[in-house]
Amino acid sequence: MEKKFEIGSKTFVLDQAKAEEAYAAKRVINGRETMAFNLLPLRYKWAYDIYRSMKSNHWEPEDIPMQKDIEQWQSHDLLTDSERWIIRMGIGYFSAAEGIVGDNIIHVVRELVTAPELKLVLGRHAHEENIHADSLLYMISSLGINPHECEAMFEQIETVRNKNEFVTGVSRELRRDIDLTDPANKQLLAKNIFVFGQCMEGTQFYGLFGMILSLYRQNKFPGIGQMFRYTLRDESNHIEVFRNLFMDLVEENKEIWTEAFQQELTDLMREAVRLEKEFISDCLPVSSVGLTAQEFLQYIDYIADRRLEGVGLKPLNRGTENPFPWLAEMMDIQKEQNFFEGRVTEYQKASALEVVHDDEL
Ligand code: MN
Ligand code: FE
Repeated sequence: MEKKFEIGSKTFVLDQAKAEEAYAAKRVINGRETMAFNLLPLRYKWAYDIYRSMKSNHWEPEDIPMQKDIEQWQSHDLLTDSERWIIRMGIGYFSAAEGIVGDNIIHVVRELVTAPELKLVLGRHAHEENIHADSLLYMISSLGINPHECEAMFEQIETVRNKNEFVTGVSRELRRDIDLTDPANKQLLAKNIFVFGQCMEGTQFYGLFGMILSLYRQNKFPGIGQMFRYTLRDESNHIEVFRNLFMDLVEENKEIWTEAFQQELTDLMREAVRLEKEFISDCLPVSSVGLTAQEFLQYIDYIADRRLEGVGLKPLNRGTENPFPWLAEMMDIQKEQNFFEGRVTEYQKASALEVVHDDEL
């Protein structure tokens, strides 16, 4: 079907069939290569939808008051040593982890995918990792923690180093020219997306999330807790982006979904869980008020199984119950509006692609 535009003495003919061909050539990998970043028509609508929800969740660390946290941190009687240690571990681990995730997106995943709408959502994902990294800087400077101490945490604490090496290994092996028509290389990319989305952001972030939000629930570190709530809300979008990306990659390249590959991924999750459990033992060497390591270990088993099932793999510990049902509630802050003292946290505006009704404005 052709559409003709006659403007003055000129005639422009637009061929719909050609546009449809371009649309059909959109792929997660090995799609049409073009320098034009053409989002439309959207083939991966989920990517644009999540991009929009990420945008509406936008937050900035400096908007969150830290006075109470500083007061507690400097006091002699308001906190125990183990509570301070959890915060140090949280700041130490996440300072490195957020950067590692963002760097892998920019240098590996966003480089290798071909559909523009996938690159769009991955750009936002990387930016949110920058916001998270920045929020840790803000916590460190507010509390007056020596930045060298923070660097030392991820170099000298073995369980932090092990978690980091587990993920940087699967990122390093993809930082080269790679032939993605080779099924072995497709599997390397699928593995990277699985490890970063489901094992790291999806599972290994959750030990500390649980601990810091448990403290927050007891009114300890309200500013830090709030930042982690926003971070956790962002992470659930990140996990979903990487889960969808993984599922579509496998769907379009079915030859990679072998028994052996499914087993490899399951083993990687088992290893991720093992590393996270060792790490949790370092965060909580002795029980703190209302926090025991045992519950967090169970929580990790529970979360890891949800991630495995999310990508169609069998759980490792079927029937494990969630010891922290309140955690899901704490994440549900979509509609909370009074945090920024009257400033609405939802930045969502109507999309140009949707019909806007007057009553929505
Ligand atoms: Mn993050
Ligand atoms: Fe993330």
